[in-house]
Amino acid sequence: MSTEQSSSTPLFSELGLAAPILKAVQEAGYETPSPIQAKSIAPLLEGRDLLGQAQTGTGKTAAFALPLLSRINPKAKSPQMLVLAPTRELAIQVAEAIQSYARYLKGLHVLPIYGGQSMGIQLRQLQRHPQVIVGTPGRVLDHIRRGTLKLGELQSLVLDEADEMLRMGFIDDVETILKETPAERQVALFSATMPAPIHRVSKRYLKNPVEIRIETKTSTVDTINQRYWQVTGTHKLDALTRILEVENFDAMIIFVRTKNATAELAEKLEARGYSSSPLNGDMNQAAREKAVDRMKKGKLDILVATDVAARGLDIERISHVVNYDVPYDTESYVHRIGRTGRAGRKGEAILFISPREKRMLFAIEKATRQTITKMQLPSSEDIADRRVMQFNQQLSETIESQDLAFFQTVINDYQQEHEADPLEVAAALVYLVQKSRPLKPVKHVESRPARADREDRSRDRNNKSERSSPRRTIGSAIRESEAGMQTYRVEVGRDHGAEVKNLVGAIANEAGINSKDIGRISLQDAYSTIDLPEGMPKDLFQQLRKVWVCNKQLQISLMNASSAESFEKTESSDSPRKSRRSGKPRTRARDKARRPSQRRQAQKED
Ligand code: AMP
Repeated sequence: MSTEQSSSTPLFSELGLAAPILKAVQEAGYETPSPIQAKSIAPLLEGRDLLGQAQTGTGKTAAFALPLLSRINPKAKSPQMLVLAPTRELAIQVAEAIQSYARYLKGLHVLPIYGGQSMGIQLRQLQRHPQVIVGTPGRVLDHIRRGTLKLGELQSLVLDEADEMLRMGFIDDVETILKETPAERQVALFSATMPAPIHRVSKRYLKNPVEIRIETKTSTVDTINQRYWQVTGTHKLDALTRILEVENFDAMIIFVRTKNATAELAEKLEARGYSSSPLNGDMNQAAREKAVDRMKKGKLDILVATDVAARGLDIERISHVVNYDVPYDTESYVHRIGRTGRAGRKGEAILFISPREKRMLFAIEKATRQTITKMQLPSSEDIADRRVMQFNQQLSETIESQDLAFFQTVINDYQQEHEADPLEVAAALVYLVQKSRPLKPVKHVESRPARADREDRSRDRNNKSERSSPRRTIGSAIRESEAGMQTYRVEVGRDHGAEVKNLVGAIANEAGINSKDIGRISLQDAYSTIDLPEGMPKDLFQQLRKVWVCNKQLQISLMNASSAESFEKTESSDSPRKSRRSGKPRTRARDKARRPSQRRQAQKED
């Protein structure tokens, strides 16, 4: 593998951060400092003021939090660091990030304070002597005026998203707070843009600041068709699964931010039937080269990579680049998408972007002087069309390449014996073949946000009396699954005392399925239905059948929209991990016909 390692990017371990902070960063799986981190950490550690032009998504929180936390004394019980943020959401998010970077600093407390939260709660929390406060300007000023927040010992003050604070009319409050802080405190000001009033604040309150602006070098990328999907309610993984279903890709590279995420996502894609591998800086050179070589040879279709590991990657087959996590800057975007469109070919680039990261999208468009078009997620109809097309293709290939004489005899005998209509026989066969990956899979359930998902589950948990609600009827239990998911039935329901949390806990713990990957759960009286990722390996399925919940074994079985089918009665002839068909998940199970007794039993249950 050829690499274009940038010798100028330092390692986190070389930056002089305090050991507990470094430990937390390494645990977070950050491979190298982002550009803003590489430039900010050293001067902030030296105690210098800083003026940084950077937006959300560049890693600016860690850029100030890591060095400023390294300088804090957790034994001293007064506020030493104050971060001002424009919104309650940002304050909470930043406080959480700081808390995670400070997790090995014993005795350190981080407190978010923002308008809208009860004063009483905040007063109690302030009495616990937090050393780091993250707040919105109005509420911070309230506490200063009431004497409940004293900044006499403050070492550092961070103004995060200063232009937003200006836009929201907080700039006077910010100045008042600045005046309340000790003269020798260190100030770091971050802003995506530098309008005049922000410039004025920086001139007045920052002493000889280091000025940092992330360069946006770009090269043209005309052969690459660029699209973005606005991350809304749908989980990113679900969205990716749908895109993988319909995009005609040869090989794909998916960019994520952390080493941990490369492994996690590659594993999830593998479980969904795509031959995938992580590519990160923790893998030794030989392992990385092996992954790249397998992709070159067509033995691997998806690499899930960090920026560092994918530097200079040159594989002609890569037809698609997916920016699953937004890049830090326009330069790394250009570099990432340059992994496709190699050797004069055309390439496709897809960017996942959350509403908060919209600015990065505009910055990329501006820097590349190209428009990135908005894309819609493929609908269930698109997915069905694609699956039918793939099926037809496989059918033609099989007719052309296989000796079917024996199978013709089998069908001929059957047809004569039952006087069956040949079209009906063929349709029944198609039905059997597609059962584990239905040709008409999903009634596209539009955008279920993660939070709604959780709320649904807690509703289930809290409202056992909702028995008559339509969502709880048997009819609603036999419903279509979300993309990338299959609906299973378990023989444990409300009558056995089961709650959603019991099912989630048992499946997550016993089967090692991440609870985030467990989809909708519908509790019925005698049984329940549950959505799990498509392509469950058979051994895992067998293991789940025997799991006990509320003194009953789950006896899990696969359902689909039209009927309840037992997975027990299916047999996998080709494992999902074996097939090497590009751009499509491998077909998993070929189903054995049901015996009449089983059919009767199923009809009774239906
Ligand atoms: P921010 O710009 O501070 O909002 O950070 C955006 C995201 O980047 C957060 O999810 C961070 O966890 C992540 N992040 C920050 N620094 C790094 C890094 N050096 N490597 C990987 N991810 C990072």
